[in-house]
Amino acid sequence: MATIRVARIFDGDRLYPEGGVVVTDGGRITEVRLGDHPGTVELIEGTLLPGLIDCHVHLCADAGPAALDRLSKATPDGVTTTIENSLRAHLHAGVTTVRDLGDLHDAVLSRHARTPNVIASGTPLTTPGGHCWFLGGEVRGPDAVRRAVRDRVAEGADVVKVMASGGVFTPGTDTAGTQFTDDELAAAVDEAHAHGLPVTAHAHAHAAVWQALRAGVDGIEHCTSVTRSGAHVDDELATALAASGVAVCPTLGSDPAVVVPPEVLAMAERAGLTQAVLQDGLARLFRAGVRIVAGSDAGIGPAKPHGVLPRALEEYVASGMDPVSALAAATVQAAKACGVLDRKGRIRPGHDADLLIVEGDPVADITALRRPVNVYLGGEPITSAAGA
Ligand SMILES: [Zn+2]
Repeated sequence: MATIRVARIFDGDRLYPEGGVVVTDGGRITEVRLGDHPGTVELIEGTLLPGLIDCHVHLCADAGPAALDRLSKATPDGVTTTIENSLRAHLHAGVTTVRDLGDLHDAVLSRHARTPNVIASGTPLTTPGGHCWFLGGEVRGPDAVRRAVRDRVAEGADVVKVMASGGVFTPGTDTAGTQFTDDELAAAVDEAHAHGLPVTAHAHAHAAVWQALRAGVDGIEHCTSVTRSGAHVDDELATALAASGVAVCPTLGSDPAVVVPPEVLAMAERAGLTQAVLQDGLARLFRAGVRIVAGSDAGIGPAKPHGVLPRALEEYVASGMDPVSALAAATVQAAKACGVLDRKGRIRPGHDADLLIVEGDPVADITALRRPVNVYLGGEPITSAAGA
């Protein structure tokens, strides 16, 4: 049992500037008392919020140069070590739950029982030679797609990930085009929904975002809306996304201290994906009322280390999101997209005691998220969070 008295609380929905006392027991929050309660325990001059949720990570990827490419040569032991290191880095940054959307031959999914704070898709479905084919999820034809979905259901997946367009870092794939047929995508959604699982689609291409929407997916990753003449989220698409209620995960967020190699920047720019374009796309989605959930694509390269989510939220705010909406994207909205809203993403009695305390007030200054004071997972303090 622990009693935490803090100067401010962000509960997932709003800031309580008067702070309060949060009591945890047996891994859960048991009591929340707003307002100051002098004499209970020492006051922490910071803000308590739900542990952050990163909705798009690659735990198998070690965030080294060409991390995804090197996965084809990774050994099982090496991958296990990387997954453990990745999770530790997220925790130290205050990210207590992650949704893994880039599994390598179900390596994350197979250890799922030991990592309840991981929402796992297993190996993403892609077309032969398609985006991230080397992860092991190549499939063609509606029947094979259905079988692949059932395999993931049997392995205990929480969500199904489909690669609806090509990707920037898989040579030979088309970032501006679709990968699956309409029938294949519809089969994936129908089969997943029949088993109670949501589907989220990697979609850079404008055509792939529309295709995914028509297929009835629950989430769209990246959503940069790439065409042959550049990337642009138009009003018609933004309005349709807002009306559909799908969760869009714009994977911004990088460590500004890392110099991105020119060849990597060139790959992104060939698809029309500059930082300015990414931020403009998010601004348009947000203004249209699209449900935004936070994800970073952590692990894919040196500028995207595990635990980079606070930087993503800074970029969300720089794009025009208000800080409360940005924080909600990484807490309550993320928990909803991950199917864990009943136990994560809010400071509520009965919820898991996954907690983050940061210096200062992240609503006034979102960079406060970079200064964690304490992190708790299931009520247990994560050591050495301070100064991380
Ligand atoms: Zn990714």
